[in-house]
Amino acid sequence: MTRIADTVAINQAGHLEIGGVDSLKLVKEFGTPVIAYDVKRIKTTIKHFKQAFETAGLPYRVTYASKAFSALAMYRLVADAGLGCDVVSGGELYAALKGGMPPERIEFHGNNKLPAELAMAVDAQIGCIVVDNFQEIQFLDQILQEKKTEISVVLRVAPGIEAETHRYISTGQQNSKFGFDVLSGQADRALQELLNNPRMKVRGVHCHIGSQIFAVNGFLMAVDKMVELLQKWQQQFDFTAEILNLGGGFGTKYTEADQPLPPEEFTTKIITEVKQRIKNAQLPLPEIWIEPGRAIAGEAATTLYTVGSRKDVEGVCHFVAVDGGMGDNIRPALYQAKYEAFLASRPQALDEQIVTVVGKYCESGDILVKGAALPITHPGDILAIPSTGAYGYTMASNYNRNPRPAVVFCEDGKAQLIIRRETYADMLNCDLT
Ligand SMILES: *Cc1c(COP(=O)(O)O)cnc(C)c1O
Repeated sequence: MTRIADTVAINQAGHLEIGGVDSLKLVKEFGTPVIAYDVKRIKTTIKHFKQAFETAGLPYRVTYASKAFSALAMYRLVADAGLGCDVVSGGELYAALKGGMPPERIEFHGNNKLPAELAMAVDAQIGCIVVDNFQEIQFLDQILQEKKTEISVVLRVAPGIEAETHRYISTGQQNSKFGFDVLSGQADRALQELLNNPRMKVRGVHCHIGSQIFAVNGFLMAVDKMVELLQKWQQQFDFTAEILNLGGGFGTKYTEADQPLPPEEFTTKIITEVKQRIKNAQLPLPEIWIEPGRAIAGEAATTLYTVGSRKDVEGVCHFVAVDGGMGDNIRPALYQAKYEAFLASRPQALDEQIVTVVGKYCESGDILVKGAALPITHPGDILAIPSTGAYGYTMASNYNRNPRPAVVFCEDGKAQLIIRRETYADMLNCDLT
């Protein structure tokens, strides 16, 4: 089973294994669907990201974009590994703090931060707010005046770059809903406004060109644009950035067709470009921040499902249905995202059929894998879909009143339940009679 060898492992019994735990044992203990993370894989990826900076001897910060997978245990793990995190809502901020992330390592993103969310961030004394638009500056200023305090901010800009990815996850272009537009001079006005504000300490600049990007070129272009901007701001406003935040979006492997560069290589290329450009521009070297989300969480998890019904229309279509679907992984429906599937009990069995793996939700778009090559399956078989660690659980819903799945952390042969499966009663928690 070489085609999945670098996202999953197979044990001596010939079963899929996650973090040293036999997948069939996981299913017995926790049921299906279950999302199982290989914790060591998360730790290794984090180490590789950090190593790229440490080898280059640069001041840096890696902040985990927690919208990829937000769980108390994940914040704990990431904090213990020395990272900070991004949050994009009051709810994520609440979870990050509860999970033990030190507030000074939290940055707050988003295009419509509510005044209540901004107030919460100010009260928690988080590391910085990534200011996105003029309205937000007003809201934040009011809060800071009322609370007689100040906060560090980083200015998010849209540098005018089209990343080669799905348009829903491309965010650096001029018509993006995120950040101050550079080309029209909006970003300059924003900086001026922030510099005139005694309650906001402008520490630097941020861009995020999109997600699931494989070509390092987009990042290098972003670096060039950002350094150009910093050079201009130095001359025009006598502003020296302490932080250059280049965002996240490092592409990861979902299927064999995806060939991402290893994180350390990708990061090293970016670092080299930053050093060169900053030197050419004769600017002091800022701290370089990156914000990987899926690159940390994505490949680390595999979702296990139980096979149920099937439908065959000879010569037309073959469907194999599992006990989850768009409620635990909406990415195929949302972005036409592609995944691979295989049997947890016989991951190396020969492929005998091409099927569409569908879920149990009442939508024709409830598809998990199109064109999955599988052995003949039977009801009760355990189907595994790897690389489901990012934007799966965090986008999960209770559509059709299906409970959200359980999530486990697996490491050194031990499995720890970190999010229990929802119950029917949980789903009625907010219903009033
Ligand atoms: C979503 C997002 C990220 C992380 O994107 P990934 O593709 O998960 O790496 C980082 N920074 C910002 C601002 C984001 O919106």
